[in-house]
Amino acid sequence: MIKTFTGPMHSGKTAAMIATYNKIWNKEHVKCFKPKSDTRDIGIMKSKDYGDGVPSIGIDTFEEILDYVDDSVTTIFVDEAQLMQGNVSVLSYLSIVNDMDIYIGGLNQTSEQEPFLIMPQILAISDEVEVIKASCYDCGREAPYTYFEGEKKDAILVGDEGYVPLCARCLLKRRGSVETRKILILSKQEKEE
Ligand SMILES: [Zn+2]
Repeated sequence: MIKTFTGPMHSGKTAAMIATYNKIWNKEHVKCFKPKSDTRDIGIMKSKDYGDGVPSIGIDTFEEILDYVDDSVTTIFVDEAQLMQGNVSVLSYLSIVNDMDIYIGGLNQTSEQEPFLIMPQILAISDEVEVIKASCYDCGREAPYTYFEGEKKDAILVGDEGYVPLCARCLLKRRGSVETRKILILSKQEKEE
């Protein structure tokens, strides 16, 4: 079984992961993973709602999970999965062949509303997807989008700084319809012209 919690920044994806983890009484058979490239809380699945968080093994690729699991492991958690690399079919393998319960947390979209790297593949192999909305920073409605305030040097920045959750109306207000059109529907070549 593969269940994925997704949504924008500050929506409580990790909190949902930790709540699921906390419900498991016997944690001997559970392993948690996080990408090493997430430098915010190295080795810990952490949310502001849950003090110390949950210790996690740092990995770069899904294939590395195979080195850490044996027949005794029934359940795994992979947080910040949008930063993971490798073959997502490793998760399908562990779900089908090892009969594992797999919980994944990750951003569905970038702050330009593009599908986030490997997340479309993860969503495609999930048995269940829970899209968690944040609260709009500007108006308080449900916020499905992440918006980045300020100058961005890399396509994908790691960290929370400068990111705000917004609803569609407030996203459009901040970005304007011309820029939104440019970002969402113009080709790379058209954008550069
Ligand atoms: Zn709003």
